[in-house]
Amino acid sequence: MPERRLVLLALTALTALVLTGCGTTLTGVKGQPVSGGPPPTTAATPEAPETDVVTPDADDPAYDIALSEPVEDSYYPEVGDPGVDALHYDLSLAWTPRSRSLEGVTTLVFRATGDADSFQLDLAPALDVSRVTVDGEKVDADHAGKDLVVASDVVEDRRYVVEVRYTGTPEPVAAPTIRQDFSTTGFTTTPSGEAWTMQEPYGAHTWYPVNDHPSDKALYDFTLSVPSPWVGVANGELVERTAAAGTTTTRWHLAEPAASYLTTVAFGDYTSTSNTSASGVEITYWVPTGSPRLAAGLEAAAAGLDWLEGRLGPYPFDTLGFVLVDSQSGMETQTMITLGKTDYTLSEPVLVHEMAHQWYGDQVSPHDWRDVWMNEGMTMYLQGMWEAESTGITIDEQMDAYAATEATSRAESGPPAAYDPGEFGEGNIYYGPALMWHELRERIGDDAFFSIVRDWPTARDNRSAGRDDYWAWLEEQTGEELTAFLDAWLLGETTPSRS
Ligand SMILES: [Zn+2]
Repeated sequence: MPERRLVLLALTALTALVLTGCGTTLTGVKGQPVSGGPPPTTAATPEAPETDVVTPDADDPAYDIALSEPVEDSYYPEVGDPGVDALHYDLSLAWTPRSRSLEGVTTLVFRATGDADSFQLDLAPALDVSRVTVDGEKVDADHAGKDLVVASDVVEDRRYVVEVRYTGTPEPVAAPTIRQDFSTTGFTTTPSGEAWTMQEPYGAHTWYPVNDHPSDKALYDFTLSVPSPWVGVANGELVERTAAAGTTTTRWHLAEPAASYLTTVAFGDYTSTSNTSASGVEITYWVPTGSPRLAAGLEAAAAGLDWLEGRLGPYPFDTLGFVLVDSQSGMETQTMITLGKTDYTLSEPVLVHEMAHQWYGDQVSPHDWRDVWMNEGMTMYLQGMWEAESTGITIDEQMDAYAATEATSRAESGPPAAYDPGEFGEGNIYYGPALMWHELRERIGDDAFFSIVRDWPTARDNRSAGRDDYWAWLEEQTGEELTAFLDAWLLGETTPSRS
């Protein structure tokens, strides 16, 4: 997500762009409608399919790409279950805006990581479970709080298909944060019945049963139904769109594994447009119907993507899109970035930031929430490089601006890799690690630095990784003794001196 306190910096940069006539972003965006209008008047109540068309073959080797070694989080251990290694979620979701009702069928293929007589998924208590099956057999399930405990014998390394049917009016959950751009995460509903999600560090369980931890990436397919002309948007490729009996149904396929906090869904009155980067990546923009200037502003993403590919190598996924929602924040949801409709969250620095996350955060994800600095540090550094180039200042001047807030945020919220768990997403996980990367660049030179920047996401493609793995890899790649340096920047109580 973007660093919220960069509003001033970003707007300063933006003003410079507009004044010099080379900016194409926010001019004219102010005053645009922020909503696509009232809910559809059709009486249609979309329903999830009654029966599965196809029961997945759990042993299909196509799922092997999503094999993980899930762990219990050191910061938020109450969410996620290391007994489950989710491989594929098939989510069928029907949203009725007028009644705020979600009807869902989740078909999950998972690997048991040990022998047990039950397994556990996360599912918010606002959702009522009507039926659970394992490999087609109805089983008992206990849904206490957000824990859905399924009574079924499982054997280590065997794979199972669990189907969960549920309904309810989803509610977001409290986030462990003091940020001002969000206080809850998960499925959020607007006054007119639109729905959207953002859920870092957790909150996917407010709309589907899930092993809600980033150490367990999985593949996804979505079937989304909503009264026409509204439409459902999710991660990945739009593979089918149909409208019948007053209901619009879309199917989405995510071809590479994602962490649950990087999934997204939005229901609303959307129109899509697209443009293409010079490198040939088509970018799709889902904006409220009747807001062409919002879409036009977003088209700057294409040039931003070209800039990023020049530093990071080819875009790592097969699709890219943006969906605008009624939030004050933005989120790097995999292949379909979710952005609030504020001047800041629609600004070019934020577009670049969220696209940089597709490599840092999405292609390679943190194995434990204590290492969210792995996402935000490099993304903030790349954003800083882009801003410096765009505004004609030096990278050192940009880093001076970062350093101006780093000591304070570190003092308030803790060291970047040992932050206060109640202050998730503060400036300390952004600025200090960004400054650290700049110091490493100064130490090892541009060639070595940009080769590690390019190679790390590829080296852990589709995986989740932790600090020990990353640090060892960095030392191996650079031939440098880096432990003291990394310790000081990431775990030190005060900001190390800069070169
Ligand atoms: Zn971010």
